[in-house]
Amino acid sequence: MSKSPPRDPGRFGEATRLVHAGRDPSAQHGFVNTPIYRGSTVLYPTYDDIQHRRGRYNYGTSATPTMDALTEAWTQIAGAAGTVVTPSGLSALTVALMASVSAGDHLLVSDSAYRPTRQFCDGVLSRFGVAVTYYDPTIGAGLAELMQANTRAVLVEAPGSQSFEMQDVPAIAEVVHARGGIVIMDNTWATPLLFPPHARGVDIAVEAGTKYLSGGSDLLIGLTSANAKHFPAVRRTFDHFAMCAGPEDIFLALRGLRTMSLRLREHGRQGLEMARWLQARPEVLRVLHPGLPEDPGHAIWRRDFSGASGLFGVILKPVPEAAVAALLDGLELFGMGFSWGGFESLVIPFDCRPYRTATAWAPGGPALRFHIGLEDTADLKADLEAGFARLRAAAG
Ligand SMILES: *Cc1c(COP(=O)(O)O)cnc(C)c1O
Repeated sequence: MSKSPPRDPGRFGEATRLVHAGRDPSAQHGFVNTPIYRGSTVLYPTYDDIQHRRGRYNYGTSATPTMDALTEAWTQIAGAAGTVVTPSGLSALTVALMASVSAGDHLLVSDSAYRPTRQFCDGVLSRFGVAVTYYDPTIGAGLAELMQANTRAVLVEAPGSQSFEMQDVPAIAEVVHARGGIVIMDNTWATPLLFPPHARGVDIAVEAGTKYLSGGSDLLIGLTSANAKHFPAVRRTFDHFAMCAGPEDIFLALRGLRTMSLRLREHGRQGLEMARWLQARPEVLRVLHPGLPEDPGHAIWRRDFSGASGLFGVILKPVPEAAVAALLDGLELFGMGFSWGGFESLVIPFDCRPYRTATAWAPGGPALRFHIGLEDTADLKADLEAGFARLRAAAG
């Protein structure tokens, strides 16, 4: 006799659900975790079985027990009707978009959407006859004025990539649904733990699991979850593209899922502490973090989100580029590189000017994006303190 999973997991708190979701030790000889099933071919016992494709599993691209463990867990955590798991966050977004729009449709995309999302819209969707309009992320219900007779879907991302504008997702969803459209959200920053997408009116939600689900900067994975109305289209699109993730990566994502709540809370707490500390620095003009009361998106964040993750922006007071380089080049603990969500702190310089089209990016000084990891904040502050001393010396 092996242990069965708890019944009716919906009655448990979030942390308990994260520990138990998508796991059935009784089906694994009592072992705690679902193992890595590697496989393309699935064998059928009889002629009749293969003629009727009988059985849960038919072929490795469409489903495996490892895949099911993650998609079932994520469906529960996100409050969705179903989920597909893809090889990256960007591929999860492309599945969401390809499931939603067709030639002749119009798509509205937030101006602060993740840049590769824009590149997919401009480089692929436009080639297939989808018209794309970028909109000011802070537009809220004003989005109604941009909707055309053929507007099929609206993409939101809150807070926005790099610039961290908050979006009024429920207000946008109301406007879009009133006209029969689809709301797609890139929910990577908050994850469903801090922003339950489908309960807030999102039809299709995308998560770059590469970030906080992994938590280790050691894998690429994406999730596309959807409500009952839109999951069939998401599932069909996933199957058409055979957009399946590798079994080892899915296994690592499941491992990350069990501790995600704990890690995310700590990233959020440390992130807010560092954001406040940076805000008080004389070298800093302002901090872009919706969890700060001074932030223009704070009221919406308080209303709709139950916390913050560890990613935010900092605008420095104007200094020569060489001074910014002096700050960044000598850092001992902060790494410079793309992506985020791992246990380690990161910083990158950024400039939205080359690609924003609906809004003007004029922050008033050099812009940096920070990801706060799980190090001791006293050490992170000391590292930045030394960096600011280099910046001042270089600025003269
Ligand atoms: C990183 C990221 C993605 C893409 O994830 P990958 O796994 O790197 O493809 C999508 N959206 C946002 C907001 C991201 O930060």
